Amino acid sequence: MSSFASSNPSSGQPDIPGLHETEFSQGSIPEEPLDGASEKMLMSPSSLISYMSDPARYYFKKILKRREPWSPAAVEGSTYHAGIEFALEHKRKLGHLPLLPDTLEFVKAYWDAEVKKFPAGTRPDPERLEYINHFFTSQIYDVLGELAPKFIEKHVTATINKTVGIHGYIDLVHTNSPGAFADFDPRTDVLMDFKSKAVTPSKGPDGGRIMANWDRFQLTLYAWMLSGGNYSVKSRIIYLVKNKTPKIVKVDSLITAEEQQQRIRTVVKITDAIRDGHFPPNYGHWACSPGRCAFYKDCHELL
Ligand code: SF4
Repeated sequence: MSSFASSNPSSGQPDIPGLHETEFSQGSIPEEPLDGASEKMLMSPSSLISYMSDPARYYFKKILKRREPWSPAAVEGSTYHAGIEFALEHKRKLGHLPLLPDTLEFVKAYWDAEVKKFPAGTRPDPERLEYINHFFTSQIYDVLGELAPKFIEKHVTATINKTVGIHGYIDLVHTNSPGAFADFDPRTDVLMDFKSKAVTPSKGPDGGRIMANWDRFQLTLYAWMLSGGNYSVKSRIIYLVKNKTPKIVKVDSLITAEEQQQRIRTVVKITDAIRDGHFPPNYGHWACSPGRCAFYKDCHELL
């Protein structure tokens, strides 16, 4: 790496030039290959988040293309997503959800295929599949029944200043006016995302649940890609909280055009920092330990 700057000693967060005026410089969040021909950098919201949360980790994963072991929690999260997508795509095409046993059968097949990728002895606990089935049966299917999907796993792309491309997949656009317009309509449509979490989302100043910073950042970029930054977008995150007793928490928010524009400016700063080779480690990252970070040894030796 051309520069491996140090952490900010006062905050313990990575010292990234140009990011200090944003809230994200105080917290933890990027993908992608540089297109050598055009010098256009292609990023996804998750890659941007990866960089902001720990630039050094981003460097190992995205620049050096090092792999991290697939985690059981990640498999569980992707299983929820796959089952939800299966059910909602059926509803979008046919107007109703598939029978629950059909969705559970799909979920089991997906889970079994993912679990086989793990070496023996490291596979996710089979009881987690029972938990997932229970969650779908007791709560998730009721929520899916309330939704009218317009788009599912919609691939969206946009370009900033001809030098940065953003792309990603929107989980769901729900519409309150089924069949009215083919395109996104801010009057009737709601941008939605599903997130599985181990903890209940935090409360805001008014006591209501709020979106986690990184979740909101991702949704804001999707809002910008839908609106072009020209209007506010109604949004909702449906948190699947994996407590002992599972629960669903819905968090609604209006993402204004101004907030969208601010976040695009943040994206430009991040991509400038990556082009400049700034990959400072974030030793305050939750995964910064030998057992949790696959790059721990190299990271400490390089420094
Ligand atoms: S060791 Fe810590 S700072 Fe370095 S890449 Fe891993 S999590 Fe980031």
